[in-house]
Amino acid sequence: MSDCLFCKIVAGDIPSTKVYEDETVLAFRDIAPQAPTHILVIPKAHIASVACIAPENSAVVAHIFEVIAKIAAQEGLDGGYRVVSNCGADAGQTVHHLHFHILGGRQLNLEMA
Ligand code: 5GP
Ligand code: ZN
Repeated sequence: MSDCLFCKIVAGDIPSTKVYEDETVLAFRDIAPQAPTHILVIPKAHIASVACIAPENSAVVAHIFEVIAKIAAQEGLDGGYRVVSNCGADAGQTVHHLHFHILGGRQLNLEMA
């Protein structure tokens, strides 16, 4: 998707601070961190949101969660961390390329919203 910000990051057209990369997944630091550790994990192939996960593309989502566990260990998030994916307007999704936030490094508040 040529007008998608995260596709441009995957293509290298927009720089990012990468923390993990393989054939199908990229992880990079959020530009506006909400916690001491704030990393975004995305599929390289464009999927618009959680709502678009389907049998044809769900394998990468399982892989993303394996990558999340690896990154959390690398980042030393031994006290725990939160994984968030905003889906759609009511959740405040601003970038319409599936991404999972890893948030950690401080005590996170307990509200879900
Ligand atoms: P959303 O609000 O869609 O769940 O999350 C989008 C996230 O992308 C936000 O946390 C925002 O700070 C981050 N973001 C937006 N533009 C950029 C960018 O150009 N580079 C990086 N690294 N993060 C970005
Ligand atoms: Zn995209």
